[in-house]
Amino acid sequence: ARALGGNTLVAYSEELNAEAARRLDLEAQLVHAVERDELDLHLQPQQRLDDGELVGFEALVRWRRGGELVSPGEFIPIAEESGLVIAIGEWVLERACAQIIALREMTGRDFVVAVNISARQFRHPGFYATIEALLARTGVNPASLELEITEGAVMEHTEAAVGLLHKLRALGLKLSIDDFGTGYSSLSYLKRFPIDKLKIDQSFVRQLKPNSQDAAIVQAVIGLGHTLGIKVIAEGVETIEQREWLKRLACDEIQGYFYSRPLAEPQLFAFVIRQCRA
Ligand code: C2E
Ligand code: CA
Ligand code: CA
Ligand code: CA
Repeated sequence: ARALGGNTLVAYSEELNAEAARRLDLEAQLVHAVERDELDLHLQPQQRLDDGELVGFEALVRWRRGGELVSPGEFIPIAEESGLVIAIGEWVLERACAQIIALREMTGRDFVVAVNISARQFRHPGFYATIEALLARTGVNPASLELEITEGAVMEHTEAAVGLLHKLRALGLKLSIDDFGTGYSSLSYLKRFPIDKLKIDQSFVRQLKPNSQDAAIVQAVIGLGHTLGIKVIAEGVETIEQREWLKRLACDEIQGYFYSRPLAEPQLFAFVIRQCRA
């Protein structure tokens, strides 16, 4: 074993303390983020590969905290642990519906907006009622709202999860599995879950090259999805080469910086108008 010097230990524990302090600080302020109107919802466009059409968006939450923009990768886990993710999640769903309506008014088209649902939010007893009330209140076309669920959220308590997914699907919503391939998935659940779309995680896309292991995995996922009647979207597509490979592998849709970054409202509307004219 390697002997640690006293200074190393001190530095290590100071770093842990600083991390814990930031966490507490974020959590204390996150409580007020919704009421203080500090959250924003950015939408990242998704493109269909066969005809290049804009077909939908993923909604990604942002937190303006003082002058700092805190990444959801940092605050969502905190919100998930503290339970704040329920309130934040409801705000996100509400905002996403408002965006669906605004996009429809602007273009006359129904775009799909996909919302990330955290495991805790999905398992919360009031979740189904929240969705049902939201659809009734806003009047959005249910087929315009997609829920992105991770493998982890549905793999535990499988029986309850299967039942809930069927009920949500019966409302007319779209359902997708996020970060597909990164969880401890048993593929057999794909048969039992009423899923519309698989999202291939960006870790498989990053080094996508002909004849690579990633290409083999991506090809297998696309084949599996299509055999089961499920659409496949690839995330984190940054280059034209990745796009061309995915197109050749018959991937249905892409999302990533190559097509567009996540966009705030003014840029979002400009992007949509450009795409609808093109
Ligand atoms: P995710 O659901 O896997 O979202 C994709 C992430 O990849 C987003 O990070 C997006 O901005 C980023 N991304 C998109 N295109 C590219 C690309 O071409 N290259 C690279 N390198 N990255 C790309 P973001 O917005 O920071 O979100 C991080 C995570 O936070 C999300 O991962 C999701 O798990 C969570 N999250 C975001 N918004 C929400 C929300 O409203 N509710 C919940 N529960 N979680 C959310
Ligand atoms: Ca997602
Ligand atoms: Ca993802
Ligand atoms: Ca991810």
